[in-house]
Amino acid sequence: MEPKGETKVDGVRMAMGALDCPVCYEPLKPPILQCGVGHLICNSCCARLKKCPLCPRTAFERCYGMERVVESIEVPCCFANNGCTKKITYFNKKMHEKACRHGPCFCPEPGCGFIGPAVALANHVANHHKWPSMKFKYFEQFNLTLQPGPLVLHAPDGNVFLMNMTPVEPLGHTISLVCIQPEATDSRFGCSMVFSCFTGHHQISTLDAVRSSSLSDGMPKDFFCIVPKSRGIDIFLRTTIDNELVYEDEDELEDEDDDDESYDEDEDEEEDFLRCLIRSIGSRQCSSSLDL
Ligand SMILES: [Zn+2]
Ligand SMILES: [Zn+2]
Ligand SMILES: [Zn+2]
Ligand SMILES: [Zn+2]
Repeated sequence: MEPKGETKVDGVRMAMGALDCPVCYEPLKPPILQCGVGHLICNSCCARLKKCPLCPRTAFERCYGMERVVESIEVPCCFANNGCTKKITYFNKKMHEKACRHGPCFCPEPGCGFIGPAVALANHVANHHKWPSMKFKYFEQFNLTLQPGPLVLHAPDGNVFLMNMTPVEPLGHTISLVCIQPEATDSRFGCSMVFSCFTGHHQISTLDAVRSSSLSDGMPKDFFCIVPKSRGIDIFLRTTIDNELVYEDEDELEDEDDDDESYDEDEDEEEDFLRCLIRSIGSRQCSSSLDL
């Protein structure tokens, strides 16, 4: 007999519980262990119990046969009806669905109950709430004007980001950024903003890990950047969003504009004030550098 390739067999039924650990009920994933008579147990339960949960045996060995089985079973994502076409290994199903781009996101406008995948939500807020939006490319700097309120940013890979600028008296504005996506655990995105608010002022704010949010708890409240009030010049936020956690040296990001080395006492105090404020607000995600 020839070994079979990948096959899809209609009408096959399987008790999916057979693929779960009998102790924690989580899907079995390699390394899978078995006692002397073949009772299966997951690695972490085995390390914890040090004894078979179904018989008195205490010796275990790897069950490579079962590992091959669980690695070969693929299931559809539960958001297939929302457009997810991924076939996922059964033991990765939960992890995928938690972060699936087609999972539900929530319109944060008060009183609006819209729920849908991120892209549908982006269309909804543009059409129903007239939120502005724009496209950007990863690693390419784009200019934003300081304008209070939400801004939807569309990435070429289909990811959607929400930037929100909030006026904070008497300081200026705070800026937050999230990737609209159900709770992905590890961020693949970073952001940096370079701007000047008055002559001789130069600030770089970076966010190393843009968190994901389904917006189920409303507009993002954490922020990574404080834009001080302008002293009579238009503020352009030169923004870059990366899709890897690779950063250039901050020195390389520096403005080519001539920085005025001489600044007055007043600005010095402002710098100290901002440093102090950034420190006291101290969001773990917040990193900001002031360069006067
Ligand atoms: Zn277990
Ligand atoms: Zn046993
Ligand atoms: Zn999915
Ligand atoms: Zn809405």
